[in-house]
Amino acid sequence: MSEEQEKDEQGAVPTIDYLRISITDRCNLRCIYCMPAEGVKSLSHQDILTYEELELFTRAAAEAGIRRVRITGGEPLVRKGSVDFIRMLSGIEPKLKISLTTNGLLLARYASELKEAGLSRVNISLDTLDPEVYRNITRIGDLSQALAGLDAAIEAGLEPVKINVVVLKGVNDDPLPFAELARERPVHVRFIEYMPYFDDPGKWYVPGEVIKARLAEAGKIEEVESPEGWGPATYFKLNGSAGTIGLISPVSCHFCPSCNRLRITADGRMRTCLFDSNAYPVKAEIRDGAGVERLREIIEGELERKRLEGGDNKPKASGLRAGDHMSRIGG
Ligand code: SAM
Ligand code: SF4
Repeated sequence: MSEEQEKDEQGAVPTIDYLRISITDRCNLRCIYCMPAEGVKSLSHQDILTYEELELFTRAAAEAGIRRVRITGGEPLVRKGSVDFIRMLSGIEPKLKISLTTNGLLLARYASELKEAGLSRVNISLDTLDPEVYRNITRIGDLSQALAGLDAAIEAGLEPVKINVVVLKGVNDDPLPFAELARERPVHVRFIEYMPYFDDPGKWYVPGEVIKARLAEAGKIEEVESPEGWGPATYFKLNGSAGTIGLISPVSCHFCPSCNRLRITADGRMRTCLFDSNAYPVKAEIRDGAGVERLREIIEGELERKRLEGGDNKPKASGLRAGDHMSRIGG
């Protein structure tokens, strides 16, 4: 085992092999925990990296050791050509696994095309199974459209299908309907702690342990090992359900030291941490003519910086703001 791998085993230095690409800041929803009621001013067309520029960056990232790529947004499926972009990324190298985070509204239309284009897995953000609460959380969404997207993803054979639920105090903090869904359908539900990005930190926050305790009251909880590449969650099954239930606790269970992520925003800023506002202006480099070699050097430099900082970017007690909205960074 190499020295690097040995450190990984001890959890000291994770291998940074996961890239989140936000392909747009635009969205067809206005979730209350993600953006203010008035929305967020959209970036202009020239500010957004083209698919060719993103492909160049991803190619360099793959050379720097990235093995998994997640497409996100805003809502990635509202950007024209997103399916072809996934096909483009699938052509980079067979080892690169491509996944998508979406609110699911457009999956009924695109799920089978996405599968055929090389998408392997999908995360659907769905915070409630109650139509009225769904409308309140998303401000404008129609639950039936999201559920049709979920059905289409399962039918298309995307595997695994995970559901992300951001838990908001007094709004959708009863986990049992989702536990029932994980029992009935081949889906993996992950409850995510609300991160107070632009709002009063105490307003909606519910610790993951509270959700777990509520589930434990409903039945027998059996911890299961976190499947490889499923991110920083703890997983369990309730009453022997088919699907798993996960808890992602970015606030109560600080997981920066084990973070393996790199991000690029739609406007071409590379971030090594969700909470670090020191984004690297990759777009300027690309538009000045940087090729794969130069980009690889830049990425490796930033990854080294992240390794050295090793979790020092933890959310400050004053809040988790970084001057950006989640819809811009991609979650
Ligand atoms: N529109 C897509 C979606 O909703 O899945 C992709 C982009 S969205 C910004 C990515 C993820 O960030 C979603 O799962 C969303 O629930 C999560 N997210 C947004 N704001 C959050 C917050 N304040 N706290 C925790 N998660 C948040
Ligand atoms: Fe849009 Fe996703 Fe943010 Fe909801 S969480 S507003 S769907 S970007």
